[in-house]
Amino acid sequence: MAENTPKNMAGRSNNSGRSNTVRSVAFTFILVCLAMLFIANMNVNNTTKTEVALSDVISRANDPEGNIAKITVTGNTLDITLKGKDQPTETSRKDGSGTLYEQGLIDYCKDVKESEKAKCEENYPVIEYKESVDVTGIVFDVLLTVLPIIAIVIFFSWMMKQANAANSQSMSFGKSRARLYGPDKKKVTFNDVAGNDAAKQDLTEIVDFLKSPKKYERLGAKIPRGVLLAGDPGTGKTLMARAVAGEANVPFFSISGSEFAEMFVGVGASRVRDLFSKAKKNAPSIIFIDEIDAVAHKRDARGGAGREDEQTLNQILVEMDGFDNDSGVIVMAATNRVDMLDKALLRPGRFDRHVNVTLPERKDRLEILKVHFKGKPVEADVDLESLAKKTAGSSGADLANIANEAAITAAREGHKAISNADITEAFERVAIGPERKSKVMNDKERKITAYHEAGHAVVGHVLPDSDPVHKVTIIPRGATGGVTWFLPPEDRNYKNIYELKDILARAMGGRMAEKLVFGDDAITTGASSDLKNVAALSKSMIVEEGMGHILRNIVFPGEDNGYYTITTGKPYSEKTSELIDAEVKALSDEAAKRAEAVLKANKKVLDALAEELLKHETLEEKELAPILKDAKLPATAKLH
Ligand code: ADP
Ligand code: MG
Ligand code: ZN
Repeated sequence: MAENTPKNMAGRSNNSGRSNTVRSVAFTFILVCLAMLFIANMNVNNTTKTEVALSDVISRANDPEGNIAKITVTGNTLDITLKGKDQPTETSRKDGSGTLYEQGLIDYCKDVKESEKAKCEENYPVIEYKESVDVTGIVFDVLLTVLPIIAIVIFFSWMMKQANAANSQSMSFGKSRARLYGPDKKKVTFNDVAGNDAAKQDLTEIVDFLKSPKKYERLGAKIPRGVLLAGDPGTGKTLMARAVAGEANVPFFSISGSEFAEMFVGVGASRVRDLFSKAKKNAPSIIFIDEIDAVAHKRDARGGAGREDEQTLNQILVEMDGFDNDSGVIVMAATNRVDMLDKALLRPGRFDRHVNVTLPERKDRLEILKVHFKGKPVEADVDLESLAKKTAGSSGADLANIANEAAITAAREGHKAISNADITEAFERVAIGPERKSKVMNDKERKITAYHEAGHAVVGHVLPDSDPVHKVTIIPRGATGGVTWFLPPEDRNYKNIYELKDILARAMGGRMAEKLVFGDDAITTGASSDLKNVAALSKSMIVEEGMGHILRNIVFPGEDNGYYTITTGKPYSEKTSELIDAEVKALSDEAAKRAEAVLKANKKVLDALAEELLKHETLEEKELAPILKDAKLPATAKLH
């Protein structure tokens, strides 16, 4: 029996060894599950945080008096720590479109000098972007501190969740896809789109139809199927399309033409099928094809569209033709280049409704600026009206950009609120590029630049049909050595031939001043962009505006709105071609002569201005006035 003992003992010890292993396997299993649970459900923490709207977070983050100390961004989740707290107590989510920066969340203190950092961070939140969740650290902490009982409870709840998830997986997958584009995405309405009243007016009808399709069906009204938003880049087409969906409160299925370009063969077409079938299932709804020119450019342009693009385009046409009148789906598309679109798209029953989204006029620019400065702290004397006035030709996107840059500038300078100077700096930065104070110019270069800019300014000031000189600087900016600004007193839609000729002459003013002061051999490359502008403008005056001597009141448009293709060729003879070249040269010669005449007649003013520029670098309107007041228009530069 005794010999059994060891066996038994062995047996027993074996048994107990096995149960130890089982126990440790089980424990490890629970640990692994726990880890997985925390990986899968990091948001468990969030149940203790208050969910707040992103717009609210952004407006508080932009307010130096706001109460946010720190924002930690992990993927699409923002964890907000309030001033005076050491833990995040609020959470928010970014929606899919655009970066947080584009949506107005600015890291004010990022580029601030080390010495100013603490001061900046007293007012503005620290923004920390985390690549991915640091799971190991957190899980480890939790494992060490949380009691096993709680772990087991969570473990079971996780098991339940898994079981539920398995049951409803396919369903929730479909749902989440729909939600990605659906109406519960951050809602944009017409209120977010400033100005552009005409376009909004046109689209109100579409909104009304989407809201109450029955009303239209009853009367047998035919609803447009396709609406094409056309306009320059940055004018708010994408924003407008989202606003239509927001106003009508219907699902919005969108894709961008450029996405198609990256797809494999056949995927584009099947993506279109998918998009349309989803939209039909969720009708009334909107399909939005952004940048449609990327797939639907003319088949003969660029030597024929690619096969893949053509398949995608054909599928769009097939789907649109296959719509029943009462499908309740409206297809919207946006493009910067209507002239490049395949004509097949524009036929009746397809994109037959056109809405032009235009560059904003002055009062619209003011509205857009107000939208984008809203929620940002500004000084009391900030003058958005004069900014609106200065920004003729800017798009909504440019203006949004200026507002953002102004906030960044203010923060960098350590200001509590955005000042007029911050706005001016932002405007010039957006228009030409950042100042490059660090770029060293030697004395000779500085002197040439001063005369060059003074040349533009004097010629522009003297010529009767030029816009007034607003500002001259010899601080390098972007790619330029200096800048002379002319500002139109108001927005104008047309320019007459005298105004255009004065633009040519003042553009020549830079080169001509260099020539006059330093001699014909000393001219520099500093005038190359001026000369390009002269060449482009004089060419368009001849071939587009019929403003030549001989080629007066005649232009030669190509088959497709002036865009010549290899196949159609130039719509004029060789002889006309030579005439065009001669006319263009005559215009720039005339411009150079007039500029030279003005500068010779006003050499003293030119010298004085150049000298002041060397002294002060930048001169504003009121500083320019006393220097320029004696300048006179010589008879040789007069046109009328
Ligand atoms: P597009 O699609 O015409 O190129 P977007 O709709 O993408 O232009 O506009 C870019 C950004 O410019 C918008 O997100 C918005 O911030 C701003 N923006 C453009 N137009 C307007 C406008 N009319 N009102 C307010 N913001 C505008
Ligand atoms: Mg767009
Ligand atoms: Zn120049």
